[in-house]
Amino acid sequence: MTHPDTYRALRVLKDEQGTRAELQTLPVTDLPGGDVLIRVTHSSLNYKDGLAVSGRPGVLRTHPMTPGIDLAGTVIEDASGRWQPGDHVILTGWGIGERQDGGYATLARARPEWLVAQPGGTDAHWAMSVGTAGFTAMLAVMALEDHGLTPGSGEVLVTGAAGGVGSTAVALLAHAGHIVVASTGRPQEEAYLRDLGAAQIIGRDDLPGLTRPLEKERWAGVVDTVGGATLAGAYASTRTHGSVAVCGLAGGHDLNATVFPLILRGVNLLGIDSVTCPPARREAAWTRLARDLPVSRLSSVTQTRTLDEVPALAAQILAGQIRGRTVIQID
Ligand code: NDP
Repeated sequence: MTHPDTYRALRVLKDEQGTRAELQTLPVTDLPGGDVLIRVTHSSLNYKDGLAVSGRPGVLRTHPMTPGIDLAGTVIEDASGRWQPGDHVILTGWGIGERQDGGYATLARARPEWLVAQPGGTDAHWAMSVGTAGFTAMLAVMALEDHGLTPGSGEVLVTGAAGGVGSTAVALLAHAGHIVVASTGRPQEEAYLRDLGAAQIIGRDDLPGLTRPLEKERWAGVVDTVGGATLAGAYASTRTHGSVAVCGLAGGHDLNATVFPLILRGVNLLGIDSVTCPPARREAAWTRLARDLPVSRLSSVTQTRTLDEVPALAAQILAGQIRGRTVIQID
């Protein structure tokens, strides 16, 4: 495989005038350290990428930086010998697009242990249609199941359901045989969510809030992407020995709650962190994603856009205007 001298990247720059995103062509020597050189063919758009590209604080640890917390592509070389030229690989998290240059570039460097082999029968577009959002949804479903959720346990709530994590969680839970209640602030997405397998749609503002430390028991499980008052209400309404997988903060980072659901109902509050997920669990999650979320199931959830469109898309995802998943075609 040829070794290019330059690569194209979307860089986020910071100077006296502020922060801006700019497409640049750079020498390959500008790439960060890492034994594996990857030709990136696809990346994706996540909420975190929206924050990074829009110059919001808290995601990029240094500047200039190439955002993009996901990438899929082909190995060009691996100094460690673990991967062979031509291997198809997926990389999500581990700080790419935050602490180290990420997926919005035609080339990337990474540590060999960060990579996951693309599951058989899938391609790079599929992998990025899943991306960190779908991977996180899979980790959330696995965590709920590890803590006793089985089909027949009862209703499972997904909040922020029309977003990337939420849409994939609805599809995965419905596929596993659960009764999914999808909460959304976009009632116009009802048909979309029902098509993914939601049994009931509930308006964002119609979700029972927190009026008492223990609300009426309803949810056997919860996948929460919203945080704040939504999470507090869902947690207080979770049934005895049910579980809440806490994934996101699209609505706020506060958690105003009491210990009562934990100590009087045995409710499990489960933290989900896709970035540092250990390699063995990553592989298990990707294997199951390939089995349960084939291309046919994801196509209605996914739009495909180009690198040049990322700055505009970043603003849209922060405004809650992106439905489902966005694959970024790089090469
Ligand atoms: P999206 O923007 O695709 O989805 C977020 C959804 O949350 C929106 O579609 C909307 O759903 C809902 N929402 C947005 N704003 C508000 C608000 N103010 N109040 C209530 N609901 C709101 O983002 P992702 O799916 O990519 O990510 C969702 C969250 O999960 C983010 O906070 C992200 O940072 C986090 N995340 C965490 C990961 C982890 O490892 N823990 C990994 C990936 C993401 P609707 O229109 O249906 O109401």
